[in-house]
This record gives sequence, structure tokens and C-alpha cells, in this order.
Amino acid sequence: MPKVTVDNNKCNGDGTCVSVCPVAVFEIQNINNQPKAVPVNNDACIVCRACEIQCSTQAIVVKE
Ligand code: SF4
Repeated sequence: MPKVTVDNNKCNGDGTCVSVCPVAVFEIQNINNQPKAVPVNNDACIVCRACEIQCSTQAIVVKE
């Protein structure tokens, strides 16, 4: 099963992954008063890697 991780030190919370993920893996949550992408639906990931490729801060890693 794929494993999607977000490095909160890199994530700027701009929501690109929320927009590009075709299966709604991510949502933006408020963590320590800052918006961060959280993979709330990891099991749905189809490993298209759109999030990894389009994240402007390379915060996302998808492992098969
Ligand atoms: S690899 Fe594709 S399906 Fe998986 S979380 Fe990223 S955008 Fe969504």
C-alpha cells in the first residue's frame, strides 16, 4: 500500500496537493497555527505522483 508523507518543516500550506490529487488524499489542517497539508486519505493514493512533482517546496514523498 502506498505511503504518503508530508514534511511539515517544508510544507507552506498553499494547498497545491489538495488541488492536484485526483483522489482527495490531502486536506489542509491548522497545525500549531499554521496551515499544513495532511494525508488524511492515504489508502486512496494511486501513486500518480502529481503531488510530489507539483509541490513547490518538495515537502511530499510518496512510497509504493
Ligand atoms: S501520488 Fe497522486 S494519488 Fe497519491 S497522494 Fe499524490 S496526487 Fe494523490
